[in-house]
Amino acid sequence: MNILSLIFDQGCLLCGYSDSFSEKYGLCKKCAFPLLFHEKKGEKCHVCGRPLISEDGICMRCRNEDYSFDTNRYFWDYDGVAKTVIGLYKFKGQRRIGRFLALAVYRYLRRKGLDNVLLVPAPCSPARLKKTGYNHMEAVCRALKGLHGIPFAAVLRRRRGRQLKKLGKQERKEELADKLYIKPKDVRKFQSLCQGKHIILLDDVFTTGTTASACSRILKENGAENVDIVTFAID
Ligand SMILES: [Zn+2]
Ligand SMILES: [Zn+2]
Repeated sequence: MNILSLIFDQGCLLCGYSDSFSEKYGLCKKCAFPLLFHEKKGEKCHVCGRPLISEDGICMRCRNEDYSFDTNRYFWDYDGVAKTVIGLYKFKGQRRIGRFLALAVYRYLRRKGLDNVLLVPAPCSPARLKKTGYNHMEAVCRALKGLHGIPFAAVLRRRRGRQLKKLGKQERKEELADKLYIKPKDVRKFQSLCQGKHIILLDDVFTTGTTASACSRILKENGAENVDIVTFAID
């Protein structure tokens, strides 16, 4: 590992190698490209995007759910390199990776021909914000706006509460219903911004879908006609 390149904030955060890519995105081309060009083949669940095994259209998990969002699409399984990269960004304060994640979202939107999009970052918990000092999904949206001109509305907020990963599914639902909100002034802003737009909620990892569903419900209650979820990884 090239220590100097890390000190000068240019080297790849996975392998230390410095190239034109690592300086901007935090990962060198060799580490970044397999993730960027990764495409999942085969039939996928219309709702959560997981591969279908012997099911038709919708996977067994989603048949028992009543999600408020329309679809979830994700880039990677939450393990291996993808998990490390997301962890470096979300937990270790490696903010350069936010640009790489923004690039992955941008490539996805282009590949799917999605334009006229309004992104909404999933809200950060106050505890995480305090710990890392930045709102990690909002920062990805900011990078997408800065680099590619894609608009976003960071209107969802989360009140201080219990840590979701320690809660069961039903408790998560109740906690989120109680703690997620949009400020009144942002409600008006969102209602005008979302007109005629394809609303995409951006989150890091899709696990039970509870957070995505709770966020979508609020957005729909406040004027969104559709809400699709885009996540980096599925657990
Ligand atoms: Zn590398
Ligand atoms: Zn599914």
